[in-house]
Amino acid sequence: MNSLIILGSTGSIGAQALDVAEKLSLKVEALTANSDAKKLEEQARKFKPRLAALADEKAAAELKIKLADTNTKVLSGIEGVTECAAFGENPTVLNSIVGMAGLRPTLAAAKAGRRIALANKESLVAGGKLVKTAVKENNAELLPVDSEHSAIFQSIQGCKDKKEIKKIILTASGGPFFGKKRHELKSVTLQDALKHPNWSMGAKITVDSATMFNKGLELIEAVWLFDVAPENIEIVVHRESIVHSLVEFADNSVIAQLGLPDMRIPIQYAITYPNRFESPVGSLNLAQIGKLTFFEPDYETFKCINICRDAINRGGLYPAAANAANEEANELFRKGKIPFLAIGDIIEEALLDIENKEEYRLEDVEEISDAARERVRRLSEKYTL
Ligand code: NDP
Ligand code: MG
Repeated sequence: MNSLIILGSTGSIGAQALDVAEKLSLKVEALTANSDAKKLEEQARKFKPRLAALADEKAAAELKIKLADTNTKVLSGIEGVTECAAFGENPTVLNSIVGMAGLRPTLAAAKAGRRIALANKESLVAGGKLVKTAVKENNAELLPVDSEHSAIFQSIQGCKDKKEIKKIILTASGGPFFGKKRHELKSVTLQDALKHPNWSMGAKITVDSATMFNKGLELIEAVWLFDVAPENIEIVVHRESIVHSLVEFADNSVIAQLGLPDMRIPIQYAITYPNRFESPVGSLNLAQIGKLTFFEPDYETFKCINICRDAINRGGLYPAAANAANEEANELFRKGKIPFLAIGDIIEEALLDIENKEEYRLEDVEEISDAARERVRRLSEKYTL
């Protein structure tokens, strides 16, 4: 098995990836984060990577001093993080950065021909075509870490002709506000939104799960990963998060992957594929769970799903604009600047009159993303809590 580089190692997925690396006795070559010098120092002392990087320059300077007595070289800025993504002989690069800040590092790993274990769905949503092209041209590998996409990937093992895939059924937990109507969500707080029923995750994705924008991102992620048209991807709410997603084939046979909701299973599979090893995650006891339930999503209350469906149907730069608008609106909500329901309303309005381009470069993605963020900030001014 190859050694490992973890981008975003101080986060929820990053920490679980280090746990997997430890259990598999994998050598860790590089670790990166944004500004958490304290945690990165602890991780670097334990895993002894050759490189560490912090995107925040000030925090990187601090880390350099902290690690001066070790053999870990410290880099800074997003350039430093991106350099880590292409470092070493042939490590697997696990990208668990949050947000489209992960796009340049994903592209760097692809251009270096690496196996990329991708948790950072925003980089695929924003720059899908760029990532896919770089992966193809450089013989890189793109393996999903997102639990639903890992489930789909596991379910299509052995399928030789993609035409046999009739549809993908993406499961969604429904988040903390499942069953609520729009008017009941008017005054929900950040604390309410952070109470995810089944998963413990970073703050941004937890809020994305509450708005269900996360499922919209995952729909777009699935289009890019599996080459399936958006209309052939169905979403079903499954409260227990045991069936991680399903694939229906030409003969109407449906294959699914099940397991306890613990990200260390898909993280490990992306690293060890096509092999499987023992896992620290417990085994599934279906009789104890007793009942698995499935529901249609409530598209009126959770309109963010359709915002994303619309964006991928329009194509070009729309998904990038939708992703950036969401990153900004999600952050404004977390900072207490806008109410919960404003997230979807503002994103919707920010996407009106986007100047789309079918063919695009990285600079176009970054430009449209900045413009979408700016629009969201402007629109947010008319909302008060
Ligand atoms: P966290 O917020 O817990 O961690 C994010 C990581 O990214 C941290 O290491 C953070 O560093 C780093 N980071 C943040 N901003 C930047 C930046 N501008 N440049 C470089 N690094 C940065 O997020 P999660 O671990 O929850 O999620 C990570 C990704 O995985 C997301 O794309 C999410 O959608 C996806 N994912 C997560 C799941 C989960 O269970 N958590 C499940 C499926 C997918 P610092 O600590 O210094 O801020
Ligand atoms: Mg997921």
